[in-house]
Amino acid sequence: MLYLSTRGDPARKRFCEILLEGLAPDGGLYLPERYPQVDAATLARWRQLAYPELAFEVLSLYVDDIPPADLKAICAKTYTPEVFGTKEIVPLKKLEDGVCLEALSNGPTLAFKDMAMQLLGHLFEYELARRGETLNILGATSGDTGSAAEHAMRGKQGVRVFMTSPNGRMSPFQQAQMFSLQDENIHNLAIEGVFDDCQDIVKAVSNDLDFKRRHRIGTVNSINWARLVAQVVYYFAGYFQATRSNVERVSFAVPSGNFGNICAGHVARMMGLPIDRLVLATNENDVLDEFFRTGVYRARSGLDTFETSSPSMDISKASNFERFVFDLVGRDAATVRRLFADELPGKGRFALALDPRFGFVSGKSTHADRIATIRDTHQCFGVVIDPHTADGLKVAREHLQAGVPMVVLETALPIKFAATIAEAIGREPARPEHVQGIESLPRRVEVLPADVNAVKSYIEAQLA
Ligand SMILES: *Cc1c(COP(=O)(O)O)cnc(C)c1O
Repeated sequence: MLYLSTRGDPARKRFCEILLEGLAPDGGLYLPERYPQVDAATLARWRQLAYPELAFEVLSLYVDDIPPADLKAICAKTYTPEVFGTKEIVPLKKLEDGVCLEALSNGPTLAFKDMAMQLLGHLFEYELARRGETLNILGATSGDTGSAAEHAMRGKQGVRVFMTSPNGRMSPFQQAQMFSLQDENIHNLAIEGVFDDCQDIVKAVSNDLDFKRRHRIGTVNSINWARLVAQVVYYFAGYFQATRSNVERVSFAVPSGNFGNICAGHVARMMGLPIDRLVLATNENDVLDEFFRTGVYRARSGLDTFETSSPSMDISKASNFERFVFDLVGRDAATVRRLFADELPGKGRFALALDPRFGFVSGKSTHADRIATIRDTHQCFGVVIDPHTADGLKVAREHLQAGVPMVVLETALPIKFAATIAEAIGREPARPEHVQGIESLPRRVEVLPADVNAVKSYIEAQLA
């Protein structure tokens, strides 16, 4: 399998090259040259498999530069009951008739990002050892991504993480998840500024090609193809649990921010998994809902992005959206380049003809919806859901069809957003054993000014 850039760069690359590279040199995103097709016989065979074997089968279609035995071993050590809590890894939980939750948040940091990031940690360690190289990951986080990356990379050979976050702006629980790590290869940089400042610093360092090469700087952001393909696996696993035979159709509802999670659903559907609809749910930051209702895309600036009670979806420009647009315009890279390249503030506006064949529908959920959904899910089913999952469930219910099960992806556990849960049900949610008392553990964090040079000097001092 070879990979191409959505913006038309003529190079074709293999999986392990794009694993460490991230963005294509022309600024585009990598996609496979074609989507491998999964036929009825294959689906029937996959239905019998345990999660790590299913992951191996899906990945094998996309990875041909890691020997199968090694890839199989990587999947086996990634998706274990010890790390993800159950042997199903992503069990379904039934709510009302025809609606269930798919639990994706029982990994180390209690959000679905662990599903892909844990695999990425093992893949990085494997590939870097094979090349005899090291990598220094520089990232920016407002919460979930940073902790998932740090917990995936902690203690891994050949990898160091420098994670910037806005000082004092993450929830106490999120801060504790990151800052309590004592591993030597993990560096927390609390920046005196907001999330956008962190992101600007990471961009500025990445644009300094000399610094980047000298210090072997890499990223783990959500445009990484390996993360996306890891997420494809749980659409298959959810489908098999929600159905008895492979002629049935299932819809998935996905709380969306950067369009990474639902893009994996799009890929699974393109491979031939019988997905009826992909229901995209946004919060008050509804750029994507607007697009899927009207065909008009208007990326917003950071200033026009609301702070909401489902903060992991507070995104003004969805970084994976370009992948779907590439397919929507018939894989015409020239068009994609025109729509996305050199996006300046105020640009990134276009209108496209929607195509119902892709199965997308959408909706939006507000703070009041979220609170009401958390409350009534607790009252009716005794289940406490997090605010992002609540957005997904609220929009899912607007798109139910008789005879088509709806699987709502649970993207975090409620304990990560305890204040909103308390507002909805009058008490804090239950806390899993392994995160009891983490707020009082000793912290390892460096506070730095919102200044690129301060971050560069810090990195250089650590690598010296
Ligand atoms: C990251 C995140 C999302 C958004 O996922 P995307 O892949 O960015 O669309 C939703 N909910 C939670 C809890 C998250 O951490």
